[in-house]
Amino acid sequence: MNNLIHKIKNRDELTREELSYLLALDDFSKIFRLADDIRNENFGNYVDIRAILEFSNYCKRKCKYCGLNSTNKNVKRYRMSVDEILETVKTAYYAGYKTIVLQSGEDNYYTAKMIGDIVRQIKKHTSMAVTVSSGELSYEDYKYIKLCGADRYLLKHETSDEKIYSYLHSCGTLKNRLNALKNLKSLGYYTGSGFMIGLPFQTLDTIANDILTLASIPCDMAGIGPFIAHSDTPLRDLQNGSTELTKRAVALTRIMLPKAHLPATTALGVIDSKEKDNIFSCGANVIMRKVTPQKYEQYYSIYPSNIKVSDIYKERKILEQQIKNLGRIPV
Ligand code: SAM
Repeated sequence: MNNLIHKIKNRDELTREELSYLLALDDFSKIFRLADDIRNENFGNYVDIRAILEFSNYCKRKCKYCGLNSTNKNVKRYRMSVDEILETVKTAYYAGYKTIVLQSGEDNYYTAKMIGDIVRQIKKHTSMAVTVSSGELSYEDYKYIKLCGADRYLLKHETSDEKIYSYLHSCGTLKNRLNALKNLKSLGYYTGSGFMIGLPFQTLDTIANDILTLASIPCDMAGIGPFIAHSDTPLRDLQNGSTELTKRAVALTRIMLPKAHLPATTALGVIDSKEKDNIFSCGANVIMRKVTPQKYEQYYSIYPSNIKVSDIYKERKILEQQIKNLGRIPV
């Protein structure tokens, strides 16, 4: 153990075996402290706040864990018009958000041309950084959206285990997912990936490999959150992912990727709001807040959640206060 602590302090890379060993520790407190120190060295006392707008819940995929999968007939589908998207983004901008994450299922209705035009309009009317998160697109489409001004792209690899990946995704392969991430990186996107904790057949070794996958891309941001069972999916009877293991994975990712932006994921807050606060002492430095209009938000049911969006201005202020209450500075 002491030699691993020495390696971490020395900023030496950890192997899969070492990461697995650390994930299984009885007492992880020393590692949490080291991760928190590294977060502090790189980001100081600041917590970045980002707005996320879920503009369509149509999805052509059949991911076994996700409530938006195309086989779920119990979800009412919606698409926001370009005008609605721009209005909501402007409201978020005036409320103080400096980054907008535009997220959707894989919905062919929004062509790269449409997404690109939305990005251009946002850039014309605001000074926001724009993150797109609309799944796997072709190299040409990613290139076009980048040329229109997109700064970042978020595409989680979900799991780095090929067998688990193909069990969960009848519509895609791990190879294509990783290739898409490679394309994003080569096009100059600030690239985000991530994975879930608590997937079927996942072991500590899988999680160790997930962390190494983030480092191999290498990711500029990484969302690591617990799986949450959704009653309208084939994984309805699976237990939710562990919040402790989620915190440990975030801490080890902070150690492996000291400069990456690591959010306290919404999924973690849905399972346990206290743990969502605690994760800021385990390496996380970012928080995302939904700004999806209420009439649509209720249908963006990736997993069951009681999060409601009512007033973007008020909620931004409340979030800033919550961050200050943790002794951190919201930016
Ligand atoms: N379509 C885009 C994509 O594939 O990247 C973005 C939308 S997708 C719904 C956003 C993320 O939700 C996924 O990357 C996945 O990690 C997460 N997610 C989906 N179902 C989940 C569940 N049951 N529990 C936790 N996270 C889930």
